[in-house]
Amino acid sequence: MEWFDRLLGRKHPSSSQKSASDTQLVTINWASSPPHLALLQRFLSARDAKDGAPDYWEPIFGMRPQCVIDGMVALGLLEPVPLLEKIEICHTGAELKKILSSRGLKVSGKKAEQARRLVEADPEGMENLLVHRKVVRCAPAVSEVVSTWVAEQEKSSEMAIDGVITALRRRDFKTAIRIADAYKESRFQFPNHPAQDAMTIKSAPRSIEGREADFATVFTLRPKILNGLQPEQWEGIYLNYAVWQLLGSTAPGKCAPGFTGVGAMDSATATRMLSFYVKHQSDLARMRESGIKKAKVIGIGGCEACFALKDKTFRLDELPELPYKDCTCELGCRCTAIDLARAKRIP
Ligand SMILES: [Zn+2]
Repeated sequence: MEWFDRLLGRKHPSSSQKSASDTQLVTINWASSPPHLALLQRFLSARDAKDGAPDYWEPIFGMRPQCVIDGMVALGLLEPVPLLEKIEICHTGAELKKILSSRGLKVSGKKAEQARRLVEADPEGMENLLVHRKVVRCAPAVSEVVSTWVAEQEKSSEMAIDGVITALRRRDFKTAIRIADAYKESRFQFPNHPAQDAMTIKSAPRSIEGREADFATVFTLRPKILNGLQPEQWEGIYLNYAVWQLLGSTAPGKCAPGFTGVGAMDSATATRMLSFYVKHQSDLARMRESGIKKAKVIGIGGCEACFALKDKTFRLDELPELPYKDCTCELGCRCTAIDLARAKRIP
């Protein structure tokens, strides 16, 4: 039964540990195993058991995630949903209409009504139609445990965000970094898709002092595209940027509450503009360091101002500040500058 033990996230028990009943072990183990809880979280609402978890999560469980899900079904942690609900989940509205009309039934109504009509007319036929699909959700007791865990996760995320913001407001970047790192270390996350990892350049880990210095610089930057921000709004955008860098997601409601925007930009766009500016400044520094003299502006942007810059070549010291201050694109300026040698290699 080794697979069974692995499923429950426990080492193969030695004979001396056999005192507790199996049921008890089962309950204790999944309920205290973050990967199992996170997997069960995906089944808080009903979904197809076959689309619960990708294969590349295998290293987390030490076995194919699908086996874990099948095991959870076998143990009753996940239970099948009633036929009506299954029909609603497995079929789109268009598919339901097609089945209804092929059976000479009225096609109108909401999905729930359509499903009910089909089941009333032919319960067995509908059962057979979906016999190969297994739609499951957490059993009620499991759902309760998983929801409590999810709420705890959310609470510790909130606490990390609040702690980071408080430290940032004091310009205590070191504490902000430490809080964020400790939080990220403690939380459970499934691994990224391998393709996503392959497209990410892994940079060498930076020292806390280096990261501290980066933030200290960013908090003094004034990209021209954001001209018109009020002091408290600048503060909000700096905070939102730093929270995003440190924790991986923004918290505009906490960092920039009541931000009414600058021009057409909301706080998310404004934050992105600050981050583009940081990126552009570091690109420029790198180009200067490697002796590059000219750069070409590559734009995707839709507005007139951006269009006027598109594909133009500038000497580095004459390159307009990017993101471009006169841009009126709703999503902000997307112009970037690349060195001319590279630009020539791109047809
Ligand atoms: Zn633009």
